[in-house]
Amino acid sequence: MPEKKQEKEGTVSMQTQGGLAALQFDNRFIRELPADPLLENTRRQVTGACYSLVRPTRVAAPVLVAWSPETAGLLDLSAAACLSPEFVRVFAGNGLVAGMQPFAMCYGGHQFGHWAGQLGDGRAINLGEVVNRRGQRWVLQLKGAGPTPYSRTADGLAVLRSSVREFLCSEAMFHLGVPTTRALSLITTGEPVERDMFYDGHPKDEPGAVVCRVSPSFIRFGNFEILASRGEMALLRRLADYTIRTDFPELGEPSPAVYRRWFTEVCRRTAEMIVHWMRVGFVHGVMNTDNMSILGLTIDYGPYGWLEDFDPGWTPNTTDAGGRRYCFGNQPQVAQWNLVRLANALYPLIGEEEPLQEALAVYSRGFQQGWRTMIAGKLGLAAFETGDDDLVHELFAILHALEMDMTLFFRNLSRFKISDAPAEEIPAFLSEAAYRPLGSPSRLGAWLGRYGKRLHRESLPEEERRRRMNRVNPKYVLRNYLAQMAIDRAEQGDFSLVSELLDLLRTPYDEQPGREEYARKRPEWARNRAGCSMLSCSS
Ligand code: AMP
Ligand code: MG
Repeated sequence: MPEKKQEKEGTVSMQTQGGLAALQFDNRFIRELPADPLLENTRRQVTGACYSLVRPTRVAAPVLVAWSPETAGLLDLSAAACLSPEFVRVFAGNGLVAGMQPFAMCYGGHQFGHWAGQLGDGRAINLGEVVNRRGQRWVLQLKGAGPTPYSRTADGLAVLRSSVREFLCSEAMFHLGVPTTRALSLITTGEPVERDMFYDGHPKDEPGAVVCRVSPSFIRFGNFEILASRGEMALLRRLADYTIRTDFPELGEPSPAVYRRWFTEVCRRTAEMIVHWMRVGFVHGVMNTDNMSILGLTIDYGPYGWLEDFDPGWTPNTTDAGGRRYCFGNQPQVAQWNLVRLANALYPLIGEEEPLQEALAVYSRGFQQGWRTMIAGKLGLAAFETGDDDLVHELFAILHALEMDMTLFFRNLSRFKISDAPAEEIPAFLSEAAYRPLGSPSRLGAWLGRYGKRLHRESLPEEERRRRMNRVNPKYVLRNYLAQMAIDRAEQGDFSLVSELLDLLRTPYDEQPGREEYARKRPEWARNRAGCSMLSCSS
């Protein structure tokens, strides 16, 4: 049957086309920037260079846990290619395909407010830069692929627990519309990795894993800071020029004026990213300058978390429990603090303080405007008006006092009807979102009364308002306890919940009948369980 034959041939040629061998590499970063001349994989300070050539360490028995079809699509990889033994081999770090030239980047960073010197890709190894059929550039990077010259005192490895978290959250954030690096694959290595999860003298073996991350660039604020801190000004300029030409070509050929526009653009994008974090209740947990992408993408998913009860002071990171520097409510200020560190690093290229200050003001204004538009959207208001400040602040105080689940409250608020106000009794779809009995709900009732009046001034039909609210208030997020349940099962060799959550979080704004259990608020058992509400940097 000629038709069938054609179909078969078509499939075969699709496979070759979508296969690993068809990846087109254009390794611009290492072609245009200077390499560390030493090739041994020993830990050291690397000066006068932007990266070191280093190969991933082989692993014993890699097994594919999950892969993301959307990220594979960015690379023109077919499903068949992602399910092939070759895929597991390459993305576990056991082999390279033609065109890959692995390297680790040199960067520094301010950690918890202090300059920490050289950090670098201590367990991340870039495999190369793919240019896809649409001409887009995507850097492939393995995380947990073994030591590099930047590993300092650590082992260069990653455990399954943190790799599941990075893999799922990267993709979940993308589908929520939050700028982020992506994840292609999650592979267990078949080798144990020792970790003392709470740094309390109880180390144990955990399954090792490798995630392949994908991003147009993995350059961080810290890549510039390290060069400025060492006085390597010519190299600083080269890296800035490289970044502008590669990732910000629309700004024009590098010049002092273009450096200013570029820094302004970084400020603008960072503001946009933080507004999204505040919208969805994401807490990064370790906003050190080495974890800030120059592209304004969420990067380095470590002890992050999702706000459950609305507490601006909440941080998932136990390492930060004392100072709460990186808690939910501090993220906008911390991003600005980080941008100031970047401004200091770029100052030698610009030579004037004023333009840098102006750009920082673009951050503040951009964040403030973006935040207002965002919060108006969450409340179903067409625009933020004077006077809404008070409405919002009162709401936040109430949500905090009543321990309201942020995701559920905003999602369910779309069901509130003007005719429900003033509310003598709080509608169940709102009271159920609280983590403790409402007691006297009069404050929330009064607020709903005000909110009803405010909605009355809007011209949108109720149904349309609800539809719009549901596009910015997700029903499904990667709740901390859901990620932990997926991890618990994955550690027993059952990867089904990883796949289920990956699929669920593809359409976080849809109702998805039959999957409501994943939209429930945190169960009581998860309130104080490690991995659910408390995480350490150990990963
Ligand atoms: P993070 O807190 O994960 O952003 O990491 C800070 C620095 O420590 C970066 O330079 C990482 O590459 C490095 N690092 C974190 N964990 C490891 C590890 N297990 N082995 C080597 N380097 C690591
Ligand atoms: Mg990091």
